[in-house]
Amino acid sequence: MPLKCYICAKEGVDTPAVAICIVCGMGVCMEHSKREELPVEDVVDWGLGKEKVTYPKTLPRILCTWCFAAFAQRKKP
Ligand SMILES: [Zn+2]
Ligand SMILES: [Zn+2]
Repeated sequence: MPLKCYICAKEGVDTPAVAICIVCGMGVCMEHSKREELPVEDVVDWGLGKEKVTYPKTLPRILCTWCFAAFAQRKKP
């Protein structure tokens, strides 16, 4: 049985999942998934000094709308 979107299923709609939320692990459809890009960074020690490198390609991170909202509510300094 193919994975279904959990949030749609809660609303009584049958939608195939296109992604998995990395936080809660449930399947989500396009509409209920949020994609964020995380920067890939390194600190390279050349011996003479350290260089902070940010690479051009980013790491995608898929969250469901519920987990996205949970992260978004956090206070930021
Ligand atoms: Zn959905
Ligand atoms: Zn989630």
